[in-house]
Amino acid sequence: MSTHPLLFSLGPQNPTTRDIAKAVKEGGTAALTGAERRADEARYQDVSCRSALNRVEGMPFNWTLNPYRGCTHGCHYCFARRYHVQFEMDADDEFASVILVKRNLVEVLARELDRPSWTRELVALGTATDPYQPIEGHYRLTRRSIEALTRGRTPIGLVTKGPMVVRDRDVLQELSRAAGCTVYMSVPSVDEDAWRTLEPGTAHPLQRLRAVRELADAGINAGVLMAPIVPGFSSSRSKLERTVKAIADHGARFVGCNVMYLQDGTRTHFMKFIEREFPSMRPRFEKLYTKKYPPDAYRKEVQGMVRVLQQRYGLTKREEAAGTGARTESASEPEQVGFAW
Ligand code: SF4
Repeated sequence: MSTHPLLFSLGPQNPTTRDIAKAVKEGGTAALTGAERRADEARYQDVSCRSALNRVEGMPFNWTLNPYRGCTHGCHYCFARRYHVQFEMDADDEFASVILVKRNLVEVLARELDRPSWTRELVALGTATDPYQPIEGHYRLTRRSIEALTRGRTPIGLVTKGPMVVRDRDVLQELSRAAGCTVYMSVPSVDEDAWRTLEPGTAHPLQRLRAVRELADAGINAGVLMAPIVPGFSSSRSKLERTVKAIADHGARFVGCNVMYLQDGTRTHFMKFIEREFPSMRPRFEKLYTKKYPPDAYRKEVQGMVRVLQQRYGLTKREEAAGTGARTESASEPEQVGFAW
């Protein structure tokens, strides 16, 4: 049906992400004639990566690893939406429906870990898109990467919303013993309305918490990130308290939190979503998000509330769990924090 040439079928090599960007720029995503449509209706395009470990700056870690680009979980607040425009795709539907799969990732990673210059610094997995989105059940790139990292005695921190992570508890246990491993399960809220509205493709929050319990019971350092907390959807005192209590009840070893930030394509997508689904909320978001983050005072209120609840339910702060030595700020009583959103 497509009039575009079969761009990537001429050789044994998969296209690079640069090839993908060029093809999409010229012919839209219809030009990705090698992309395979699967039962979930998303299209999966194999790509070749030149490097597996990406050096980053200004983060608490220096290296990241991401087997997939784009994410069928499709969270409306996802900060990674804006990265999809690097491939000339949009931060709306295409972010959640055209997924790039780095098919040679594990082989490239193994070579990089074998280099004498590799100093076994911590590698962060899942910083761009979810390493346990459903298609991982098919490709197993995340599992095979963790196996390679274990052989390379390299510690990891892994962020996900995918309960599929329990499938890999055996390799995560092995890596915990060999070098160190922390799993951060993202559960911004246990509120079902917030979940259905904001995270349409993800597993139920309690399913994610059950995965945390299974990992912690297996001796893996597993906790929860309440991130992002979205003003007006998951930020009320009662929703925060229900969430922190559920996290504690499921044996999480730590909890951290952050308030949503909006930037570039993510901001554009989120505001369109609000305009379409909740038009009466748009003025409040515009007022709160004149910059990337809401005002400091607002963030401190939310974070202070979560901190108090952490103490109330006996949960450790993420920084303490990670051993960074970050200073613990004093907490106020949640009842004294009176924000409406
Ligand atoms: S699961 Fe994570 S990476 Fe995937 S859409 Fe949601 S926030 Fe983005």
